[in-house]
Amino acid sequence: MKICRFNDGRLGVVQGDHLYDVTSARDQALRGAKSDRWSDPVIANLPAVIAAIGEPTRWGNPIPLNSVKLLSPVERPSKLVAAPTNYRDHIAEMQKVSASNPVKRPQDIGTAGMFLKATSSLVGPSEGIKLRFLERRNDHEVELALIIGKTANQVAQADALDYIAGYCIGLDITLRGPEDRSFRKSIDTYSVLGPWMVTADEIADPDNLRLRLGVNNEPRQNANTRDMVYSVRRLIEFASAFYTLHPGDVVYTGTPSGVSAIKPGDTLIAEIDNIGRMHVAVGAA
Ligand code: MN
Repeated sequence: MKICRFNDGRLGVVQGDHLYDVTSARDQALRGAKSDRWSDPVIANLPAVIAAIGEPTRWGNPIPLNSVKLLSPVERPSKLVAAPTNYRDHIAEMQKVSASNPVKRPQDIGTAGMFLKATSSLVGPSEGIKLRFLERRNDHEVELALIIGKTANQVAQADALDYIAGYCIGLDITLRGPEDRSFRKSIDTYSVLGPWMVTADEIADPDNLRLRLGVNNEPRQNANTRDMVYSVRRLIEFASAFYTLHPGDVVYTGTPSGVSAIKPGDTLIAEIDNIGRMHVAVGAA
């Protein structure tokens, strides 16, 4: 099932070029449902929400996708966890960029660990990216994003996929420069998630998905998640060794080579197998 959030926070189920507004089913499922401080209520109660939805077509007429505003599929994650340098070709690319700047020499993920992006940087595809510091370089990074479905603490690789509610396309927008990574990547609108969440049952192997990004129809990134240094399972084991992952938390799995500068007026077109495609407009803050 493809689950989206749209307009002023309504819940939808996407089928083809349309969606069904299942907001009433969500509200019914969440009435009296337990929710804790760090969990996104919809994701924490996803089985109940899906059961309440049943057959999506019974909730009214299909609404054309191009007539709605798509928001981040997760409303309130407690953390946006991100993998740096998780594709070998991107490590090589960044080593070239950083040759003149030894402070920024990339380490492998096992040494560098993961980093956090501020949750306040999160937007959906229709909200767009609002660049700051236009005199500096701002880059796109397309990434497979994992949505954690249940509380995950010190999870073993073998069990890791059981903790995933679904998958999205993630954009980890990055201001290049000397500041700490989480500072440069936490600017408002610099974390895009969308266009919807595909539930985990629809993706048999997250470690074999093609991902692509174009800027104004010009191809820039084209890779497969099988080339990740840390697999999806290993990333969940690694992250949950350090902190508990809560329902709704997002794991950005790292970007392949092909990152390049973006500027106001650009449109990013990002696509991942079995998830879909999203257009994201770039503007200025
Ligand atoms: Mn990234």
